[in-house]
Amino acid sequence: MAKEQASIITIFGGSGDLARRKLYPSLYQLYHRGVLKQHFAVIGTARRPWTNDYYHQIIAESLQDEPNTDAESVRDFASHFYYQSHDVTDSDHYVTLKNLSSKLDEEYGAEGNRLFYMAMAPRFFGTIASHIKSEDLFSKTGYNRLIIEKPFGRDYATAKELNDSIRAAFDEDQIYRIDHYLGKEMVQGLLALRFTNPLLTPIWNKDYIANVQITLAESVGVEERAGYYETAGALRDMVQNHIMQLIAYVAMEQPESFTPEHVHAAKNKLFSHLPVLSAEQAAKDWVRGQYAAGNGQPAYCDEDKVDAGSQIETYVAGKVELDDPRWVGVPFYVRTGKRLPRKTTQITINFKSMGQNIFDTVGCAEARTNRLTVYVEPEQGYTLTLNGKTLGANYELEQHDLDFRQQQADIDAAPEAYERLIRDALSGDQTNFTRWTEQKYTWQYIDAIRQAWDAGASLTKYAAGSNGPAAADELLARDGFEWAEQFK
Ligand code: NAD
Repeated sequence: MAKEQASIITIFGGSGDLARRKLYPSLYQLYHRGVLKQHFAVIGTARRPWTNDYYHQIIAESLQDEPNTDAESVRDFASHFYYQSHDVTDSDHYVTLKNLSSKLDEEYGAEGNRLFYMAMAPRFFGTIASHIKSEDLFSKTGYNRLIIEKPFGRDYATAKELNDSIRAAFDEDQIYRIDHYLGKEMVQGLLALRFTNPLLTPIWNKDYIANVQITLAESVGVEERAGYYETAGALRDMVQNHIMQLIAYVAMEQPESFTPEHVHAAKNKLFSHLPVLSAEQAAKDWVRGQYAAGNGQPAYCDEDKVDAGSQIETYVAGKVELDDPRWVGVPFYVRTGKRLPRKTTQITINFKSMGQNIFDTVGCAEARTNRLTVYVEPEQGYTLTLNGKTLGANYELEQHDLDFRQQQADIDAAPEAYERLIRDALSGDQTNFTRWTEQKYTWQYIDAIRQAWDAGASLTKYAAGSNGPAAADELLARDGFEWAEQFK
């Protein structure tokens, strides 16, 4: 049985897309599972002048496609929600919020706990944090925690500025920086694979692994997000955060225990081994592309709100080399892009060859290498590819896939990433959130690539619906490798 969590949750950006698509459904599922029950209230804030009744309608609408709903439960759940029209720059509005929080705390018995969720444009994050402090919205009797959305800055300098402003109000152990990939089942499952299997743990290093490949492919284009995307691009939007966090889970040393302190210490140590890239190295090892028209889809530059001459990349591929004794000489190839043939997130571990073929005496070709592929989404599971003998009189080898896939019904019943992460924040578990030092190291690494590109490295066009720029294949071919999987 789930432990009930008492809290007053304040969502800055309560009328926004994220709140409606992710936060309200996640909170509802927590309510359904009994994590949120009686002792909670949610204050939604945004600029619009909504009534509580109208806000309840919005909550109900956001739950229309959710499982486990019935009219009575939705009504009861929505009755815990309060709307407060709010201008983030107006101090008086924070005093109103503070008084409402105290009143609701008494009414619902929330034990003085406060969870603040910043679900607005990042330019407001610092302002909100400093007002929370100056108008003293902190509870003196329970916890005060802050969940903060991505993007966390757009380079090291802006990330540091943002961090300094939220750290002026909150301690590091009160800050929960969201990277929703860390809430995904198979990302967490990766740690189980690595650290519970004697079959894998001893060979998870440069002696046995030839290369690692991480793919985050999307079939959609920029959709409604062009305004933001034009200021970001794929490197900032996907690599600095999600891909780097996946690298950490693939490559970090075994944490002493599965606690936030030990997991973050292991990640931190790993990220400290990210090299400082020279401009030449960055330009050589990082490929950027932008989708052109193809497959009946428009070019990125013809999308709504995109500059016709935009140099923003919608595709990135690169080679990360960790300056870490465990991984010396092992390239981590990563790629992410929009308008690729299909959506998939997967991690492939390519093992080295045996280097010896005892079967050559019977005319048998050398065995191919072993491979472990972890499917993060939409499929969830993994495939271990081994060599075996073909049936028949001749001695010939073939590859055999040992497959495990979660059933769709089980995937649907498991908590979605946002639900898991909000639950973690409510229970004070920071394991699946990012620390400032991780942001620092990854931004410093990414900044070098960005600077090399801004200095003139070329942007290649690729047709929408294609595999992406050919340069991404050449990146691996140069080292004698190829992507384990092409999209088509
Ligand atoms: P949105 O534009 O849909 O919503 C922004 C919210 O902020 C609205 O509620 C708006 O009323 C409010 N707001 C804007 N200016 C305000 C002001 N001056 N005072 C008070 N309220 C104000 O944005 P979104 O898509 O919901 O994104 C919110 C955050 O979540 C961003 O940091 C974004 O990067 C992040 N995020 C969103 C998604 C997503 O799928 N939407 C995914 C990942 C991360």
